[in-house]
Formats: sequence, structure tokens, C-alpha cells
Amino acid sequence: MRFVPLGGGKEIGANSYLLQVDGKNILIDCGRHPIKEGYESLPAIDEIDKLDYVFISHSHYDHLSSLPHLVKFFPNVRVLTSRENKKLSVRILRNSVEVMKKKNEKDGEPILYNHSDVKKAKKRMIGVEYYEPFKISKKLFVTFYPAGHVMGASSILLEYKGKKIFYTGDISLSDQLTIPSAVLPDKVDVLISEGTYGLKEEATDTRHSEIRRLELSIKKVLKNKGRVLLPVFALGRGQEVLYMILKMLDEEKIPDVPVYTNGMVSIITNLYLQEYAGMPPEKKKWFNNAILRRVRTVPKNYKTLLYDKRPMILILSSGMLIEDTLSYLFAKEILQDNLSAIFFMGYQSPESIGYSILEAARSREEEISYGEERIQLRCTVKKFNFSGHASYEELISLPRELQPSKLVYVHGDEEALLNLSKELEYEFDISVPSNLETVLL
Ligand SMILES: [Zn+2]
Ligand SMILES: [Zn+2]
Repeated sequence: MRFVPLGGGKEIGANSYLLQVDGKNILIDCGRHPIKEGYESLPAIDEIDKLDYVFISHSHYDHLSSLPHLVKFFPNVRVLTSRENKKLSVRILRNSVEVMKKKNEKDGEPILYNHSDVKKAKKRMIGVEYYEPFKISKKLFVTFYPAGHVMGASSILLEYKGKKIFYTGDISLSDQLTIPSAVLPDKVDVLISEGTYGLKEEATDTRHSEIRRLELSIKKVLKNKGRVLLPVFALGRGQEVLYMILKMLDEEKIPDVPVYTNGMVSIITNLYLQEYAGMPPEKKKWFNNAILRRVRTVPKNYKTLLYDKRPMILILSSGMLIEDTLSYLFAKEILQDNLSAIFFMGYQSPESIGYSILEAARSREEEISYGEERIQLRCTVKKFNFSGHASYEELISLPRELQPSKLVYVHGDEEALLNLSKELEYEFDISVPSNLETVLL
């Protein structure tokens, strides 16, 4: 059995891992690099000579977004994902096409796939139920487990001749507000684990105390008549933050101001309300009503809202202020307004604009580069840790619980993965492969 990262080795990149087992070539996830553009953003799919299956763990860009491109080269491949994730992933891929088209018009960036390619990928997809083993061959079975990360997210268990290989995907081992925590199998033989929060410093307070800190911070800004921008990922953080803010408003913990969100956050939240089985019906009903009562969508012609200085809460994607997204455009205005605030909700990739704003605020710089311009940094900037990922402590305790004879770390900054590996080096046989480095399992 061989395991080779084609992206996502010692990085959070175009996460995609080739597994060769029982004469089958299986690709686990097929993402694009969150910051790189065009062909640079793809995993090393040239390395694949034949492909039998793709397993998609969830619909985040860094796990899903190369799929239609891949299917062009392997039109007969079978794509397995959780039933809950299937419709969602198609919706997100269609949005990716629109984003690429826009970028193509603006900067000539290549369009890697179009709507017809997304349709072809959709035809190859099989939505499987959680916990139900799917037969790949006589000796090889795959089972999807809820990963607690976002709606439809899975960890994936492969069983070959009694040997169990478990890929965590992006995993949360504690409950979030809108998603219950992951469900784990019993003991496994090989554990392929994510390591996003592999650095101890990033482990923080409890979710509850973070909510309280956010609540007080928002209250202060709104009382001073400022605007609050909360950049979120449309899938996952979008629903969590929306839920959190609506609770604060309903419980009158923060002043009653308009809440705005953008189209993609709304679309995914609607899908979440319709399709997701993980949230109890009563809770869902409240969430739905609160959205109808309080949340407005940013209009297509957003310029009026952009210059509207009244107090409001803006929950906009993207989470790391990727260029030309709504959060990026609004952040430019908010950054220059001393009454307002940007509160980041989680991990910022070191190459992202979100990261550079946080760094500039930390060192009290008064000006920052923004696209081609220099602008003033006058607003309040803070970072909160509402993670959909396992914490450092959870990452350390996971292998202790599953007792694998082989442990492989992927999906994390190199420093983070090496830190985890150092912490556990006397307990497990650990590999931290780079991209294109083979690990024998
Ligand atoms: Zn994810
Ligand atoms: Zn990820």
C-alpha cells in the first residue's frame, strides 16, 4: 500500500492524496491551493496514470475544487462523497466557475473548467450514507464517518484484508454551534491525520469564552456607532457565525442593528437548513426564523451599502479576504474608519491579506498595502478562534485513542506538523511526507 500527497504535504494547499491499494488508484480529496492561481493552484495530477476512485471529504475549496478538472482526464472515474455533501459540492463548484470567469475577464486567469465540466463531474458522483460500507472490491471497503467540521464533511475509513486506514479529513472533535463533533471508528491500523492546529500557541480558550469575548467586542463597536465586518468562509464558518450573531441579537446581548450577508453564505445556509440532518429540528426552526426576521442579503449593486456608515454587522465571504470577494471590498472601506472593526473568525493562511492585516495591526502600523494601493489602517482589528478543526490537545489525543501502528500527518503548515510529530515521536511510527514523497503503509 502506498500513499503520496499530490498537494497538502507539509502545507494546507491543493490537498489531494493518492492511495494505491489492491491494484486500485484512489485519490482522496482533490482541492485547489487557497492562494495560488490558475494551473499553479492544482494538485500534481500529472503523476496519476490511471484512476479508479476519488473520495471527497468535504466541499471546502482546498479539498474539492479541482474535481471537474480531474474528471476531464479520467472521465470514467467514480467519485464517492457523503450524500449530504453531494448537492452542496455541485453548488459550490458552479460558483467556482463563475468566480473563474470573472477573474478571467479581469486578469486573464485561465478558466480551469466550465459548467459542462461540473455537470460531467456530477454524473460521476455517488452520494453514500454515513456508516454504510461501500464495496470497492472483494477485499476493499470504504465507509464515511461524520467529521464534525462542516455540513456533509466526512472522515474516511478504508478496510483492506482486515487492515484499517483512517483519513480524518478536516475534523472537529468538539461540538460547534451548528455541527455536532466527529464520530470515530474503534482502533485503526493507519491514521492519516490533519494537523492544522499543530502548534501549541494556537490552542486557545474555550468556544464559550471566545463567544463572550466576541460579544463584548461587537457591543463596544456598535455602541460607538461603528460597523463590524466578520469575514467568513461561505461554508461552515458562515453558518456558525450567523447562528452566533442571531443568538446574541435575540438575547439582546448586542445592540439591535441590521445584519447583512452575501449570496453564497445565504445559499449555503439554505441548503444547510434543507439538507443537513445533524441539527435538531427545533434548533433549525429557530435559526430559520431568526434569519427571516433579521438577515438581509447584500444587493448586487452593493456600492450604496459600502458607503453607508450606520452601525451594522456584515457577515461576508471570503474568510481570508481573497482579492475581489465582497469581504475584501468592504474591508477596504472599514479599515480606514476608526469607529469600525474587522474581527477575523479563524485561521489565516500566511500568504493571505487577512494575515497581513493582523500582522500590521499587531505591530501598530498606520498604513498597509491593499491591492495596488497604500491605505490607512484606522479600524479595530482582532482575531477570534472559532475553529472547525481539532485543537492541539485533540490532535495529540486522537492517535492515543485510535492506537495506529502508523501515523501520517498532512494538511498543516510544516512547523505545525513537525511539532505534532515531535510530541508523539516515542509513541508512534510517524511520517510527515512532502508533496510527491511516497509513504509505504
Ligand atoms: Zn475544511
Ligand atoms: Zn482543509
